[in-house]
Amino acid sequence: MRNEVKNLMGSHYDLTIIGGGIFAACAAWDAALRGLTVALIEKEDFCSGVSANSLKMIHGGIRYLQHGDIIRLKSSCHDRSAMLRIAPHIVQPLPILIPTYGHGKSGKLFLGTGMLLYDLLTLGRNRGIRDPERHIPLTAFLSKEEVLQEYPDLEQKGLTGAAVFSDGQMFNPTRLVFAFIKSAMQKGAHVANYVEAVNLLYEDKTVTGVAAVDKESGQKIKIRSRVVLNAAGPWSEWFLTDSIPHGKMEKVVYSRDACFVVKRRFKSHHALAIMGRTKDPDALLSRPARHLFMAPWRDYTLVGVWHVVWDKHPDEVTVGESEIQAFIDEINWAYPGLNLTIDDIEMWNAGLVPFGDNEEGQENLSYGKRSHLIDHKRIDQIDGLVTLIGVRYTTGRSDAAKAIDLVCKKLNMKTRRPATNYIPITGGDIENFELLVRKVHQQQTLGLSLEVVRELAHNYGTEVYDVLGLASKDQDLARPINGTKVLRAEVQYAVDAEMARHLADVVFRRTGMATGGNPGVGALQECAEMMADLLGWDDQDTRIQINNVLRRFPAWKHMTSAK
Ligand SMILES: Cc1cc2nc3c(=O)[nH]c(=O)nc-3n(C[C@H](O)[C@H](O)[C@H](O)COP(=O)(O)OP(=O)(O)OC[C@H]3O[C@@H](n4cnc5c(N)ncnc54)[C@H](O)[C@@H]3O)c2cc1C
Repeated sequence: MRNEVKNLMGSHYDLTIIGGGIFAACAAWDAALRGLTVALIEKEDFCSGVSANSLKMIHGGIRYLQHGDIIRLKSSCHDRSAMLRIAPHIVQPLPILIPTYGHGKSGKLFLGTGMLLYDLLTLGRNRGIRDPERHIPLTAFLSKEEVLQEYPDLEQKGLTGAAVFSDGQMFNPTRLVFAFIKSAMQKGAHVANYVEAVNLLYEDKTVTGVAAVDKESGQKIKIRSRVVLNAAGPWSEWFLTDSIPHGKMEKVVYSRDACFVVKRRFKSHHALAIMGRTKDPDALLSRPARHLFMAPWRDYTLVGVWHVVWDKHPDEVTVGESEIQAFIDEINWAYPGLNLTIDDIEMWNAGLVPFGDNEEGQENLSYGKRSHLIDHKRIDQIDGLVTLIGVRYTTGRSDAAKAIDLVCKKLNMKTRRPATNYIPITGGDIENFELLVRKVHQQQTLGLSLEVVRELAHNYGTEVYDVLGLASKDQDLARPINGTKVLRAEVQYAVDAEMARHLADVVFRRTGMATGGNPGVGALQECAEMMADLLGWDDQDTRIQINNVLRRFPAWKHMTSAK
């Protein structure tokens, strides 16, 4: 991966994409496969926005059964199958346990019937998924005793057992975004991080490109293209306010969604879905409340999601200590045996997602249903501009395909939708993930444990050989960074081959070093010193880089600043 700032200035593209989250990355891959010339710019690092902050679920749409929305259910299921097929190293099935109580709407018969109906509606869900470990199994039922073996602290009054269904879970959402971006680059897309779109270029009422600034050098650049796709997530509207001053796009209502990472991992390998306090007003069957999820993820447990109507700028998104305390109270209310305290919370993840229609302060909220795809010719009489604002990470691939259909129409290009649901993305051409792990473990002579090799294979897929190639040339790179499972070779690889410019790029996005919490100042210091050698930072630069990373962890966690 090379930063393409120089190329961006001299070329004339079919399409410029603004943003580097999942929707932009998928759009770049789809467009490049159709033969379009593509530029993509991201104002920070790739996948540093909402996409980095998700609960890491690739939904199969079971929730839409409740709303009677079969079309959406099936399309979500297709999206989940696609991710399990094209990126089996990053996405894997996660069994989710729903405890059943009594004989009503929380009972085994009622829930079980719904889930069996879901099984029937999604019969083709494993078609073309080569790795049997990536297949989504049928609904299973557990007895009360079996449930209590998994989650012994569950409320036992009225408990009759559980229904278990599976969804997809991402090992690392940022690596999935990179895999799409790398795939697009291999098909010729020009891509740059730390380049911000500041305005649109026009000829009369037709957009002819983007005025941007390279934030690293301060250089202003003009990127010429026949169409621009604004895929800047919740920043999209703010960008449009500046670049289409009298734009008529309807204001999107946003929710600040939040979840958090708990440092303990529960014994069970099942995620647990339990009733929270907030109601879902859209549910046809008017269930008493929405489910809260507690999902095992790597060495941690993820808990969420909470929603609050938000009308401030996306850069202002934060989660305060008192809010976290309220979330903890809700979790402890729903699962008293857990006894969560604020000390258990390693970090929070939050971002803005389009919502349904809600008043500020409304208690029982209505949730965003579909991504917004806007043709500005239709609403603002401005040609050459399309906006895509996504609701779910899960649907990034299929929604991007719809956006590129519209782009191609504007370009007067007759293209067929590429089979992005079948073509493996970079690193994802894997017959059987566990066999890959074992093969790599046997072949390497660096003395790495099976656990470290598995983690590498999750992050890089078949590109694990490139990382290990670096480590075999230099034994020093085969060592893990102080107290972590991340190899020094990964840091080198991130800088040399994956456009990492800052410490945060490496620890939060290229590797899993800090995605679950603070790896400790020792680890950050070692990583920063390596990067300083590679990128020419002095002592002060290195200190600033470390402190920028430490700032990302919650204030109530005792932290040491770099001296
Ligand atoms: C707490 C939480 C939990 C969630 N859980 C799930 C889940 O489990 N499953 C699921 O499917 N979905 C989930 N979602 C929703 C999902 O994460 C989002 O729908 C999705 O990531 C949005 O992707 P995006 O590419 O549109 O936006 P982003 O990832 O925010 O990407 C937009 C990018 O554009 C860049 N940008 C902005 N302005 C400019 C500019 N002027 N120039 C250049 N670049 C610019 C930004 O820096 C940003 O990186 C969750 C969301 C949250 C917040």
